[in-house]
Parts: sequence; C-alpha cells; structure tokens
Amino acid sequence: MPAERVKKLATSATFAMLQKSIELKDKGIDIISLSVGEPDFNTPDHIKKAAIEAVENNYSKYSPIPGYMWLREAISVKLEKENNLHYPPTQIIVSNGAKQALCNAIMALVDNPAEEVLIPTPCWVSYPQMVILAGGTPVIIKAGLSQGFKVTAEQIEAAITPRTKAIMLCSPSNPTGAIYSKAELEAIATMLKKYPDIAVVSDEIYEHLNYVGAHESIAQFPWMKERTVVINGVSKAYAMTGWRIGFAAGPKDIISACSKIQGQYTSGASSISQKTAEAAYLGPQDEVEKMRQAFAKRRDLIVKLASRIPGFKVCVPDGAFYLYPDCSAYFGKCYGDKVINSGDDLAMYLLEEAHVASVGGDSFGSPECIRFSYATSEDQITKAFERIAAALEKLK
Ligand code: PMP
Ligand code: GLU
Repeated sequence: MPAERVKKLATSATFAMLQKSIELKDKGIDIISLSVGEPDFNTPDHIKKAAIEAVENNYSKYSPIPGYMWLREAISVKLEKENNLHYPPTQIIVSNGAKQALCNAIMALVDNPAEEVLIPTPCWVSYPQMVILAGGTPVIIKAGLSQGFKVTAEQIEAAITPRTKAIMLCSPSNPTGAIYSKAELEAIATMLKKYPDIAVVSDEIYEHLNYVGAHESIAQFPWMKERTVVINGVSKAYAMTGWRIGFAAGPKDIISACSKIQGQYTSGASSISQKTAEAAYLGPQDEVEKMRQAFAKRRDLIVKLASRIPGFKVCVPDGAFYLYPDCSAYFGKCYGDKVINSGDDLAMYLLEEAHVASVGGDSFGSPECIRFSYATSEDQITKAFERIAAALEKLK
C-alpha cells in the first residue's frame, strides 16, 4: 500500500492534461494543445551538436553530484553577465531540471508540518505539492486578477508567522505571466529585512520570456542574496525541456544540503545534457531572442482573441507563455446533464467539445480561471480560439 505521504499528494495537472491530449490524438482526434508549457521550437543546432560531440567523446560516466565544474563555471558566468549576480561554482548545483532544483531546495529548507512555506497564488501546480512532499505546510497567499495576480509586501507580511521558513516567488509567473518589477521586489525585500530567518526560493525559469523589459531577481538586493536560492535552467529559454538541466544558486549551506539530497536521490544530472547546457550558456544567444520575439507575437495574438470571447476577463501577461483568463462568467451553465462549476470543468468541456486542451485553474489555486499555453504556432492559436468561441456559444 502506498504511504500516507503519497495519498496526500496531487497528480500534476499539467502533465495529466498533456497525457489526456496525447491519448486522444492517438485515437485520431485532432486535438489542439494549449495545455502543457513547453516551447514548440527545436533545440538550436549548435546545442544539439554539443550532445553529439559529448557522446563521441565518451561523456558516459557518472557525473559529479553537483554537476561538472565546467558547467557550474558557465552558469556562474551567465549569472554574472545576465543578472549581475556573483556566485562561485561552489554555490551552484546542477539538477535534473529546475523541478528537481526546486524540490532539493524545499527539502533542504523544511521537514516538518510546523514549518510553513508561503506561496503567492496563482502558483505553478507543483509548489504546494513539493512542500507537502518535503513534510512542510504550504500557506497560500491569494492575488486576484484585479491586482495583476501579484501579491504585495503587505500581503506577504500578513501571512508571516513564527513558523514561516520560506517564500516561493515565481517571476515571470506560471500560470499568469505576471512579472514583478524591481520596485515591487524591493518592497518585498525591504519588508523581509525585519525577518532575517526567512529564505526565498526565487524561480526564474521564464527569465528570457519577458515582453516588457529587463529581468529582475530578488537576489540583487545584497541583504537578500545570502538567503535566496535562485532557480533557473535551460528548458524554456533554449527549448530544451527534454534534456532535463536546471540549477540552483544560493548560500553555501543550502547548496551543500541540496547536493547531499541529490547524492542520495538521483546522483548528478545526465552527463550528455550537461554538455548541451554548457553550449547553451556559453554559445550564441540569438536563437533565444528569436524565440522570445515569436512568443511576444503569439502573446499579442492570444490576448486579442481571448479578449473577444464574451465573459473572459483577460490580464495581459508580461512574460512566460501562458494566458490565464477568468472564466467564471460560464459557471452555472450546462451542457447535456453536466454543469460547469470551475475552470477544470470548463477545460474538460473545451477538450471534449472543441478538442482544445488547456488546464483548469483549480490546481493553480484559482478555480475561477483557465490556463492556455501559447507555446504553439499562430495558426494553431487562431484555430483553437475559433473552436473555443463556437463551443462556448453552445453553453446554456
Ligand atoms: N518552474 C516553473 C514555474 C515551471 O513552469 C516549470 C516547468 N516545467 C519548472 C519550474 C520546471 O522546469 P524544468 O524542470 O523543465 O527545468
Ligand atoms: N511547467 C510546464 C507547465 O506548467 C510543464 C509541465 C510541468 O512541469 O508541470 O505546463
């Protein structure tokens, strides 16, 4: 029988929807997938070449647990150059995707239900589950569409208790695309001066998918750097979701703890993939910019199309590749003998009726919303919204 810990754990809704759409596609149904968040582009050629060379050069042995030194050096250069953050390689650990880097950090920070982790919400589906898995208690702080889906320093402070161990920040955000400005981060950082024992886990995986300006990290404030774990990776910026390389940079004791955990759980990340990540960070960056521009065009398109849907309330996303409209105007409406009562119900209806896959807002902590990923072509986005409009009109 599975352990209690597993019983409490939710299944990843993003991957569940991906799986469902794959099954329907396999049955020959023409599903348009706006569900899972992964770039539809191929990994750039110079990165693929690095993988081939790594195979030919026999990078086939166990890798060091925190990652090869040359990759940690490349990441150190990236952090210095792009983020103006100084982390020596000893304060960086390479993991199997940003997901494992986050899990390690949470496991390193909490291990008992009396320890609370604050999670501004809407949040990525995995954050509360990671805290539960580590044995801690997730504490949700809600930010609605009217506040651009961003929590304020005052809201965070109101949620702090003597049991608060950490805060998970995500900017640009999954699922909302919201980006915290430097001033907003500074307000949070200034408030946190009063609480020196609270750590911040800053998920910056969508750093390069920013349509409004420069990326800002809370670690830039000197009093925050010593208690912030910066999470990032190659999945989104370089179209490398399957290569599974992410990293954490932070205080020495937390990074060492992450390394200890990783050494017992999974060992070092794939040796071949580490060579590709090195090529990504040290190689030309023009593909990253091309993809960013393509995503920016898609964002403009999806905002235009979704804003035309009666009842959808749209907050223009500043980054990432998700649109997160409020769809509650459809709650109480029926199809057949089923009633739509949540974003999840609407997502299921759209899958069945419009053959468009999305993810309902329930597992992001806001059932009044629905998430559409626009990491797909403009044609697919246009066709999807024609289908969505037609399906929604049928609801009574
Ligand atoms: N953080 C956020 C907010 C994400 O959306 C994702 C998407 N998978 C990840 C972390 C993990 O990325 P990966 O494990 O592919 O590096
Ligand atoms: N982060 C992506 C998403 O939210 C990929 C799936 C996952 O890791 O949850 O769709």
